[in-house]
Amino acid sequence: MKRVVLLFIGSILFACHAAEISVRYDNGAEKKALVAERDGNVFFPATVIFDLFSNRFAWAPDKRKLVINISETDLIFTEDNPFVSVGGEVREWSAAPFCEEGDLYVPAREFVLLLDSLVPDTVTWDAEKKSLRIGSAVAVIDSFTCEERKNGTVFTLFLPGKMAFDHTFFKPQLNINVLKGKVSVEQLTRKETVGLVTGISAVQFAGSAQISLIISARSGQPEVCYKDGPCRIEAVLRNKIEDTKQVASAESAAVALPDSLAADQAALRIKRIIIDPGHGGEDPGAVNTQAKAEEKEIVLAIGLELRKLLKEHLRDVTVLMTRDDDTFVPLKGRSKFANSKKGDLFISVHANSISGNKTKKSVIDGFEVYFLDLARDDDARAVAALETSAIQYEKDGDARENIDDIDFMIKSIELNTYRNQSERFAICLEQEMSKSLKKVRRHKLGVNQANFYVLRGVEMPAVLIEAAFISNPEEVKVLRTREFHRQVAEAVLNGIVRYADTLE
Ligand SMILES: [Zn+2]
Repeated sequence: MKRVVLLFIGSILFACHAAEISVRYDNGAEKKALVAERDGNVFFPATVIFDLFSNRFAWAPDKRKLVINISETDLIFTEDNPFVSVGGEVREWSAAPFCEEGDLYVPAREFVLLLDSLVPDTVTWDAEKKSLRIGSAVAVIDSFTCEERKNGTVFTLFLPGKMAFDHTFFKPQLNINVLKGKVSVEQLTRKETVGLVTGISAVQFAGSAQISLIISARSGQPEVCYKDGPCRIEAVLRNKIEDTKQVASAESAAVALPDSLAADQAALRIKRIIIDPGHGGEDPGAVNTQAKAEEKEIVLAIGLELRKLLKEHLRDVTVLMTRDDDTFVPLKGRSKFANSKKGDLFISVHANSISGNKTKKSVIDGFEVYFLDLARDDDARAVAALETSAIQYEKDGDARENIDDIDFMIKSIELNTYRNQSERFAICLEQEMSKSLKKVRRHKLGVNQANFYVLRGVEMPAVLIEAAFISNPEEVKVLRTREFHRQVAEAVLNGIVRYADTLE
């Protein structure tokens, strides 16, 4: 009897202990990580997994739930619950994840098998050697250098292995797209200027990572190339030798519109476009009393010009408007209309305004492009799927509260397809507008995210354009010209074609 008790205590004491494993990357890097061992099985802690998946990961210690998104699939692990939700489908594992010192541990073998089924040959686990190999498809891009040289600046982006990439340069932005790349947005964001690079930012797309450099006007055309040992992408920026004549002619040249082949390609992916001129009827929008200008008139004129241009160039695309005359349409009615017409893109057109004194009004100017950060309603499909599957295995009493938690976590790790597509579309639009608009400059760099009511509930990629400031005495004049309406329309057309090109 005594011996049995001792054995029992012994098995509790030795049930779980820490072990060290080696984590190897395809580029040759290696590091040590602490894992747990229980009854001969290895468990990976959430913190180790976090290193691999960075921005596609959410761990809520108080909720004891871990959500990972890989290959557009949500994986949900819960403490002491052997049922794992894989894209809404519930699977039972041989062991349940457990919590220790604020970390959640998941069974290594089954975790790696699951990853392998989602993204083949990216993670391999050798239980005997206690070695985890991380393929370049899941490893995170998180380091770079930016160095000033005598005649320019060299930006080096280090990759976890050999990876395919491309790059585009639209002044002032150089975008490097790493296919299947995972990027640490936090590590690759810099606001300080180093030489010819005035800012660095990163965006995680579903199938690629985009690293953007904002490049000074003093730089010539950037040269981008791939180098080995260690794997890296190098962007060389050289100080420009002034050629004012050439710059002047480029400035006044009209932008090229897409050829019919590009337009046909776009029409294959985008069937219906909804144009939403803001305000209307009893709602004038922003008003410049001095210039006797109302936002509702200007944005309707831009919307009509846009419809005309899209119909000319994208002949197989249906173009619909939430209003095409001076009528009032409530905000909810706009998203309802767009959803009922099953639009593929939603473009809301507005003009910006700022209150304040004369000086403030005359210095604040420029266009802006917004996309919605939380483009989903509370009853979005992803949550509905969870509600009917994983939730039935919940131990906690209040199921509704749990749905909210999961919903919150999913939102927090940006799993929304529309959100990513909206952001991508906004980036394309923003770049095209900076090329097309000759008399209105960027209000500030980059695209903006905001929780606009009109974009909320729109079940498609959606953006909102603030074409210029109606409160600015110079821009209000520009806003009224047909030439400007045409330039906005051209930018949107080119933006749509470029965006369509990024769709599979
Ligand atoms: Zn408005």
